[in-house]
Amino acid sequence: MAAARRGACVSIARARRLFFSCAVARSTERAASEDDARGSPSFAIPDGAPFFLGKTDASGRGLFASRAIARGELILRAPPLVAHPALDAIADVCYACLRRIPSATAPTRDDGSGPKKPAPVAAEVPDGARFCGERCATDASARFHAWERSVGDALAPLRRRCEDHGGLKFPLLAARLAFAVLSTSVAARDADALCRVNFPPGVAPEDWLEEHAMLKVALSRGLAIRRLADARGGGTGGGGGGGEDDAQLAAAAGDREREARVVDGALTPEWYVGVVGRMHLNAFRVEIPAIVDGGRGGGGCGHEHGGERGGERGGERVSSSSAFRDAMEAALSSVASGRGTGSALYGLPSMLNHSCDPSVDAAWTDGDATLVLTARRDVAAGEELRISYIDADASASARRETLRHAYGFECGCERCVEEAGDDANANANANASESESSRDSTSLAS
Ligand SMILES: [Zn+2]
Ligand SMILES: [Zn+2]
Repeated sequence: MAAARRGACVSIARARRLFFSCAVARSTERAASEDDARGSPSFAIPDGAPFFLGKTDASGRGLFASRAIARGELILRAPPLVAHPALDAIADVCYACLRRIPSATAPTRDDGSGPKKPAPVAAEVPDGARFCGERCATDASARFHAWERSVGDALAPLRRRCEDHGGLKFPLLAARLAFAVLSTSVAARDADALCRVNFPPGVAPEDWLEEHAMLKVALSRGLAIRRLADARGGGTGGGGGGGEDDAQLAAAAGDREREARVVDGALTPEWYVGVVGRMHLNAFRVEIPAIVDGGRGGGGCGHEHGGERGGERGGERVSSSSAFRDAMEAALSSVASGRGTGSALYGLPSMLNHSCDPSVDAAWTDGDATLVLTARRDVAAGEELRISYIDADASASARRETLRHAYGFECGCERCVEEAGDDANANANANASESESSRDSTSLAS
C-alpha cells in the first residue's frame, strides 16, 4: 500500500547527487562547541530498552537485540529529532506533531475552562497551518516556532520553491531544524551521527546551495526582527518586564549575539548540504493512519498531487508494518498510498539497517510523529534488528532498483539472496525452453 513512492520523477538535478555511501564505520564526531552543549537525546538508548548499538559485518552500525524479544513487543518509542508536515497535508495535520486535525473543526480558540478535546490553534505561519492544541503550540513555540514567527513571511520564497518543485520536503525540514538549533532545542551537529552522503570532491548540488541562500535570507531577517523587538523593549521571550530592564536587555543582546554566530558560523552552506544529504538517506516519510476521522479526515485526495510529486522522495523510508498497512487500508479511500503526512528525522531508528524480511515494524501508531518500533516476529538475543526501508511487498527486481537508486546499496538480505537464486533457476529454465526472458531490462513490449 505504501509503495510507489518513487515514480520516474526524481529530478535530474537531484539525480546528480549519486554517490551515496553510508559512512557507517565513521565514529560519530561531535563538535564540542558551545552550540553543541545540549547533546541530542535522540541517540541515547533508554534504560531497559531491549537492544544495543553494535557493528554489523557488512552494513556498519546496527541495532541488536540484547535479549529475546517476543513478537509484538514494544522496542522503542522515538520522538523525532525534527518533523515537518507535507505541504499538501499542512491544513490537515498539526504543524508540530503531525497529529491529524479533524478538518471540520474550525481553528477556534477555546480559552477558559479546560475543554475535553483541545481545540486546534492557528499556527500564524504559514497559511492554514494549525497546532493540535494549546499544549503542542506552547511546546512548539519553545522548540522552533517562536523563531519561525520572527522570520515572518521571509520563508515564503523557500516554501514556494518547494511547491513549485512538486512538493520538496527536505528544505522545509532543514529550515525547521535551523529554527530548532537557534532555539537551542537541538544542537547544530545533532544530525551528524546519521548516515551521510559522500559527494564527489567539490561537488555540492547547486539547487541545495540556492535553497540555503534562501534560508539564510530568512534567518537574517529573523535576526533583525528580533533585534528590533529587543530595542522596542518587547523582547521575544515574553517577560513581563519590570525593574531589571538593563539586565533583560543585556541578556537579549547576548542571545542575539549567540544567534548571529549560529546563523553565520554553524548554519553554513556546508551544514545545509550535509543535513539535506543525510535527510535523503535517513528521513522517514511519516504516514499517520487516517483512522476514524469523521469528516474528510483524509484531507484532499492524493490525486492532484499524485503519488510522485516529489523529487525529494529520494531516500525516504517507508514502513512495511503490516498493522500499519491494515490501518491504512481500513482508512478512508483517500488514495493514501504515496501521500505522506510529513517527513521526519529520528536518532536511534536511523541506526536500523534494512531487510526485505524485516524483524521490526516501524509505524506511527501513537497518532503523531512519534515512531513506534515493535517486533514483527520473535527475535533471538543477539540478532540484528532490521526494518524495511521500502515496500517489502514489491518484487525482487523493484526492491533492488529502489534500494540501489535511493539508498545506494545492493540488498544482500536472506530473502533477496533466496529470490535471486529462484530467479537464476527460472532464467535457466526459461532459456532452456526458448521462452523470452521476463526480466525488465529485456522486455520492450508494454
Ligand atoms: Zn500537535
Ligand atoms: Zn533484500
